[in-house]
Parts: sequence; structure tokens; C-alpha cells
Amino acid sequence: MTTHTRTGITWDYAPAPESADHIRIQDRYGLFLDGEFKDPRDGRYVPTINPATEEPVAEVAHGGPDDVTAAVASARAAQAKWAALEDLERAKYLFRIARLIQERSRELAVVETLDGGKPLRESRDVDIPLAAAHFFHYAGWADKLRYGVNAREVRPLGVVGQIVPWNFPLLMAAWKLAPALACGNVAILKPAETTPLTALLLAEICQEAELPPGVVTILPGDGSTGASLVRGVGGNRVDKIAFTGSTAVGRDIQAALAGTDTRLTLELGGKSANIVFEDAALDQAVEGIVNGIFYNQGHVCCAGSRLLIQESVRDEVIAKLWQRMGRLRVGDPMDKNTDVGAINSAEQLSRIEALVAAGEDEGATRRSIDCELPERGYWFAPTLFTDASPAHRIAVEEIFGPVVSVLTFRTQAEAIEKANNSRYGLAAGIWTDKGAKAFEVASALKAGVVWQNTYNHFDPTAAFGGYKESGFGREGGPAGLRPYLNVVR
Ligand code: NDP
Repeated sequence: MTTHTRTGITWDYAPAPESADHIRIQDRYGLFLDGEFKDPRDGRYVPTINPATEEPVAEVAHGGPDDVTAAVASARAAQAKWAALEDLERAKYLFRIARLIQERSRELAVVETLDGGKPLRESRDVDIPLAAAHFFHYAGWADKLRYGVNAREVRPLGVVGQIVPWNFPLLMAAWKLAPALACGNVAILKPAETTPLTALLLAEICQEAELPPGVVTILPGDGSTGASLVRGVGGNRVDKIAFTGSTAVGRDIQAALAGTDTRLTLELGGKSANIVFEDAALDQAVEGIVNGIFYNQGHVCCAGSRLLIQESVRDEVIAKLWQRMGRLRVGDPMDKNTDVGAINSAEQLSRIEALVAAGEDEGATRRSIDCELPERGYWFAPTLFTDASPAHRIAVEEIFGPVVSVLTFRTQAEAIEKANNSRYGLAAGIWTDKGAKAFEVASALKAGVVWQNTYNHFDPTAAFGGYKESGFGREGGPAGLRPYLNVVR
């Protein structure tokens, strides 16, 4: 509720809930194998929960080791034919998938929000359109692969295993599947346990697009399903693993694949610095800070979770930020006016709570906005930590929630040093009025993506990926083709 200071008029948003009447969620989804939905070999189904209500949305098959074996066999059988298709034919399938995502975009957005808790405004305006854009983009590359790799002769890798997290379920599936298929590979995708539904709707889309059976397999399950896919069952391993998720699991996968000929790309965690210089347009910077950390409840690998403010404007930026945070609308993700939705799971909520408690114990000053949180579901109020030191856990570890930690700097050199003082290197933001300063700082930052006077902007034509413990390999644009190709000459 807002009271206008000049007129004294109090006003509020009317509820604007999106209807879920038009969507068709089945009670149960099997594994998508050989172009059909099938029961898992051991018959295990697990409910997926709406984190905003704690109500089950559907039951989903849980892929076991025998299902992994069947998936790899089905993919192997399909791969040669898929790779032998005319490039333009492969492109046509990708175009079809992209168009079908667009046609079913409203339904996909609602299901993404029900299953994962993110605000509908974000699923509708960002996740789903970008997922379609990735398929369009790589459809365009399918007959131009050589030009994406310096006119070398290339071949597909074969069968790729792809493991995605819960923060951008359909979008991460698109990031992974589109380039792999364009390059002539076939793929086995393992969605996250808490958000499998849009990947299963994508399986329906593959059926509608008449994609040949075995080209895409969707294997829902938990970490053990992912581990079987990585390690292979009975020595039957895939040719490449593409993983997005936590650094701990990424490390485990890298160790498991060391010494094998399975290729690997890892897109892992981050603790990205968002740097505000005194010459920046401060109101614009505040919008960027909010978008950088509160977008998708902070469940973003490249979230601007370490806010570095030049000392001379620290108080002003913090005052403006705190005022802006007070206007964030937290609550029902299905309401079109909601800015911050539900935390994805009870486990993630307890991780956030534990790190926030550590921040308070270590002596940083915590401020969480005063907002009414729904009684059921998993919620965390947007939170600002000041007086944090670079050694505090909240300034070092990935919180993956709506929590920003403020550090300060005096000079450009100190800003660069502090920004690079991290075991991660995924992204950074720079806010300044001076173009030359932005370029100088950007080239000194050890981060895969650097945004200038904006944050969290994504485009299928741009490469994304990290340094250090944020992983290796690039996704997006022509750089995203290379990890799915063998260069033969
Ligand atoms: P995980 O890394 O565990 O999950 C990512 C994906 O890997 C999921 O599909 C998961 O399956 C699967 N997986 C889990 N264990 C294994 C394994 N041993 N071998 C192969 N695949 C596996 O992330 P969490 O969901 O546990 O989140 C923990 C923390 O990770 C978060 O708090 C956040 O800090 C960070 N994170 C970072 C992400 C990023 O994009 N950088 C994305 C997600 C999390 P399942 O979901 O079924 O367990």
C-alpha cells in the first residue's frame, strides 16, 4: 500500500491473478523415452510441489539406473540418423519446436510459475520467450556450423547428457537442447527434481513437432538419476555431459569423469559483483541493483549478490535502494503485479536462512523489508546487509536467495581488486557515466559476462559462462556450438 506524500491519497494494486483454467496438467507424467511417455522401470512416481502453496501439482516418474540404460540405448539408436539428416531438415525441427513454444507460451508460463514459484510476469516475459528464442537462434545455425567454428570441418559428439537446475527450468533446457540438436547430437535431459513439469511439456512439444524418437529423452528424477547419467550404467556412458548447478555437484561430476573420454562443460555458482561508481546515474543503478538481486528471488547463478558501492555515494545509494526495496511486492507468484515470488523449496529456504543467520552472527547489519508473507509456502523477505566485510560468509558464499551484501571501495583499482577477490567468476555489473572507465574495468574483471549500466540481460546470440569455480565452457551464440562439436580438420 502506498500513500502519496503530496495528496495524502492511499492507493494499492488490485489483485491481478493469472487464470490457470486454460492449462492442462496431467495427474501423472512418465519418462519421455523413444518419443513416448513411459512408466519408469521400477514404477516410482514422486509428487512435484507448488512452493507457493505446498500443494502437489502432479506426480512425476523418477528415472532409475535401468531407465538411464534404456535412455542411452534409445539415444544411441537414434543418433546416426539424426546426424545424417540434411542440415536444413534438422533446422526445420528446431524452428517447429520454437514456434510450438510460442503457441503454448501462456500455458508454459503458468506451469513454470506453479511448479517453481517464480513470478508469472517473469515466466511470461522472460523465461518462455527466451526459450523460444534459443531454439530459433540455433535453428539458424544448423546449416552454418562451419562458420561458427572458423570454417573447420566438424562432426557431432554423439549422445549428450544434460543436467539442469530448478531456477530456470524450461530456459535451461532450451539453452542445452537447442545447440546440441543443431549440431547433430541427440540429448538426454535430466530436469531438477523440484521443477520437472515444463521439460515434460517440452516433451509433448517434441511429439507435436514430430521429432524422431530418441532424439530428445527427458529423464526426470533426483540427484541419483543425474549421477547415473554421468557415470553410465554397465560402462554405457554418454559422449558428453553438460551440467548447470551447484559448484559442489559440478566438482563431483568432474572427478567422476576424469580419465574418461566423456567431454564436460560446467556452468556453476557465482558471487557476482555489481559495482556502482560515484559518477553513475544512481536512480538507474538502483533499478539495476534490484533487478540484479531480487529477480527470480535471487535464484540466479549470475545474481549481483555482492554490491560494491563507491564510498562517496554509499549512503545515498543505500537510502535509495532501501526505499525502492520497500516497494517490492512479495507474494502470490500467479499475481501479475508480484515482483518477488516463492522460494523454490523448503531446502533452499533453510539454506538461505542459515546463511543470513551467519551474516548476523558475524556482525553485519541486516535489514529485511516489512511485508506480509503468505502463511503457507516458502518465503523470504528481500534483505539488505550493510557493514559486511569481504571475509564474511554472506560476502563470499552463494546465497541463491533475495539477499544482497554491501561492500564499499574508494578507488577504481580497489573496486577491481575486491570484485576479483572471489573464488567465482561468472558475471559482474558496472555502473558509471564514463565509457572509458567501464571498458577499463570490464577488461580487468575476471568474469564471463560483464554488464554495463544494466544487469541480468540475456540474449541467445551472446555467450554465457564462467571462470574459476563458476565452471568452464560457453553457452549461447556461436561460442555455444563448440562444446557440442568435434573439430576434425
Ligand atoms: P544441484 O547442483 O544439486 O542441482 C542441479 C542439478 O543436478 C539438478 O538437476 C540435480 O538433481 C542434479 N544433481 C544433484 N546431484 C547430482 C549428482 N551427484 N550428479 C549429477 N547430477 C546431480 O543444486 P541444488 O538444487 O542442490 O542447489 C544447491 C545450491 O546450488 C543452491 O543453493 C545454489 O547455491 C546452487 N545452485 C546454483 C545454480 C546455478 O545455476 N549456478 C543452480 C542451482 C543451484 P535434483 O534436483 O533432482 O537433486
